[in-house]
Amino acid sequence: MSLHPDRHDPATLGESSRAVHAGNIASTAGDPIRTPIVMANSYALPEDPTTISWSGTDTPLYTRNSGTNQLGLQRKLASLEHAEDAVVLASGVAALHALFFTTLSSGDHVVATDIGYVALRRLLEELLPRKYGVTATFVDTSDPSAVEAAIRPETRLIHTEAIANPTTRVADIAALAQVAHRHGALLSVDSTFTPPGWYRPLEDGADLVVHSLTKYINGHGDALGGAVLGRAELIAPVRADAMVDVGGIISPFNAWLIMRGSVTLPLRLRQHAANAQALAERLESDPRVALVHYPGLASHPQYEAATRQFPAGAGAVIAFSVQGGPEVQNRFVSNLRLITSAVSLGHDESLIAQVSPDEPHVVNFPRVFQDNGLLRLSVGIEDTDDLLADVGAALDQTFPGA
Ligand SMILES: *Cc1c(COP(=O)(O)O)cnc(C)c1O
Repeated sequence: MSLHPDRHDPATLGESSRAVHAGNIASTAGDPIRTPIVMANSYALPEDPTTISWSGTDTPLYTRNSGTNQLGLQRKLASLEHAEDAVVLASGVAALHALFFTTLSSGDHVVATDIGYVALRRLLEELLPRKYGVTATFVDTSDPSAVEAAIRPETRLIHTEAIANPTTRVADIAALAQVAHRHGALLSVDSTFTPPGWYRPLEDGADLVVHSLTKYINGHGDALGGAVLGRAELIAPVRADAMVDVGGIISPFNAWLIMRGSVTLPLRLRQHAANAQALAERLESDPRVALVHYPGLASHPQYEAATRQFPAGAGAVIAFSVQGGPEVQNRFVSNLRLITSAVSLGHDESLIAQVSPDEPHVVNFPRVFQDNGLLRLSVGIEDTDDLLADVGAALDQTFPGA
């Protein structure tokens, strides 16, 4: 069994059809019509092995270079993101490392978002400076002029999240792409909060996109994965250097799970966004809630950029805090019955996690979140009314007699 061109040409298909068909191995009579899990390290060599490249990555050879499930998933993700090429890795953090490891060299400088995934901060503030001699400046990437002011002659990369984890601050990607390109730098966007269906940063001028596949794209909370996507000439070195030679490869089983989970991505995103909008409005209208940030609310500081960039849905993560200190946030969370207290996001089930005001990466958060702590609610695909009832009952229990 080998990879043939897709039976259907995904380039001519709509989003839901791509989510179903892209990346599947075309079948000849008698083949399974779904790509099976191929748990093999090595693939049979051709008659004349001198014709192959030992570091080749486009036909199955050795699973650290190119396995069947990895190749299919890469093809599918590239199709969904409208990217020329994609490389998949073991986790979202492996994808971030691969991006930085490949695009940056000793002496280079990065301008990065000052609000972002916690491992991003550790990578850029501690590990890359110490181990690779790369430096970073952290700025508010919702302000393109602040980004431009931080650029130095040695700035090679601007890195942001389209919607920032955990505060939901929104970056204007088209404006940042202009800044980057005016200064000969690349723009990379972690689009984990806004998978294809909600946003495609490449279409607004981003050069590279990163996803934690662990989140919405898999969507079922049962596998980790990461991806880097972009133009072929930028992805080829990510694959050769960070995947084949550093080796943070995805397992065939996880690639298969993510391939299967992603089939329903467009369907799931519609329910995620509708639920998140309803919950955000419910929370904002309640006097027991101190602050709500959700990019679909008119009160969001970047509401205008959010509605322009994400017309199909402004994500499904809500940052909020109830009135009171961290211990009241705790009480509220423990009063929830349907919504699960756990880290991660983008799962089918709603998840809530507390970010304590004492955590070292809590910088430049809105004042209320700095004082109270922040609750990050990843709204799932349950029934809207059940989620609204759970939040309402937990508020009543947390503020008895209020
Ligand atoms: C979860 C997350 C990551 C890291 O992904 P893993 O798959 O857990 O390694 C990176 N960026 C963002 C925005 C995330 O939410």
